[in-house]
Amino acid sequence: MKILVINSGSSSIKFKLFQMPEERLVAKGLIEHIGEVGSRFPDHYSGLKVILDKVDGVQAVGHRVVHGAEEFKKPVVVDRGVIRGIKKCCDIAPLHNPANLSGILACQKLLPRIKQAAIFDTAFHQSIPAQAYIYGLPYDYYRRQRIRKYGFHGTSHHYVALEAGRILRKPLNKLKLVTCHLGNGCSITAIDKGRSIDTSMGFTPLEGLVMGTRCGDIDPALVTHIMRKKKFDIKLMESILNKESGLKGISGISNDMRVLESRAKSGNKRSRLAIDIFVYRIRKYIGAYLLALGGLDALIFTAGIGENQADIRKRICKGLFTCVKQPPKVMVIPTNEELMIARQTYKLIKEK
Ligand code: ADP
Repeated sequence: MKILVINSGSSSIKFKLFQMPEERLVAKGLIEHIGEVGSRFPDHYSGLKVILDKVDGVQAVGHRVVHGAEEFKKPVVVDRGVIRGIKKCCDIAPLHNPANLSGILACQKLLPRIKQAAIFDTAFHQSIPAQAYIYGLPYDYYRRQRIRKYGFHGTSHHYVALEAGRILRKPLNKLKLVTCHLGNGCSITAIDKGRSIDTSMGFTPLEGLVMGTRCGDIDPALVTHIMRKKKFDIKLMESILNKESGLKGISGISNDMRVLESRAKSGNKRSRLAIDIFVYRIRKYIGAYLLALGGLDALIFTAGIGENQADIRKRICKGLFTCVKQPPKVMVIPTNEELMIARQTYKLIKEK
């Protein structure tokens, strides 16, 4: 079965075509500048039309959808109810869900007879217990505004956990894992018996680790303090926290870890500091998750930094396990979110 995987962002569509169940990649590509002035792609429909002209024999489509809130705890075949549910999540993921939805609606028009599945970044974390997902805020905010930790990168954490089980030749229900997805966006997840029990990203992807341009955990009082002192409006403040902070904000040079490593080696102090802070925050989370899990069989690194930057991995792991009886395995597992979406789509369609 040929499965087209679509990751539809606000101004781009990434796609991969897989032959399943063989998991053979048949084609891949990227359409950019959707909706931008002067672009030949005024909307997602026109972009997808070009993609579908290029690929042959699509039998099912799997869509990445960022936010499924509590509505979607697992992948689903798209129908009217699912479209309504994704729309309902748009107000808590206004940057991502509307674009994901546009991709789905365009595909429905272009391939009316083909089944489509929606795979949610948040779904894998729906197993997190209330003690870890409720914030110390008035409880009504959770009940009425759906304010809670959701977590993201779920498809990636799930994929590398499954791979770890396969490589270690152990069923997932016998493993305690910590998975570190360290790319531009970074998150870390504690996985017990194959289920996410806590993760560092929160209501939005801003919480947790220090990332390329996102600040991660900060004192929440800083937000109003900075806004007051600097007379920032909400939009500017959000943009500082999301786009001007993290490695970029601390170093004043770049969000790219490769650049920072090379600048730190040639003596740039703020690049060194940015890396120190990045590493320290990850070690703190690993320590916390070690206790939350009550043991650890494997620590897994994935995504751009996790897969490629051995010095960073070494610094994260240094002396980390002298305090435990049985040191965990440290593994590097390349992530493959698109393949995971293809697998889940294939499984769903076959079951139907
Ligand atoms: P994204 O979250 O945008 O998918 P990536 O997973 O590509 O990000 O990770 C980007 C980060 O990984 C950057 O900080 C970059 O410096 C770092 N990195 C290190 N080595 C590589 C590599 N060989 N390819 C891509 N990114 C790399």
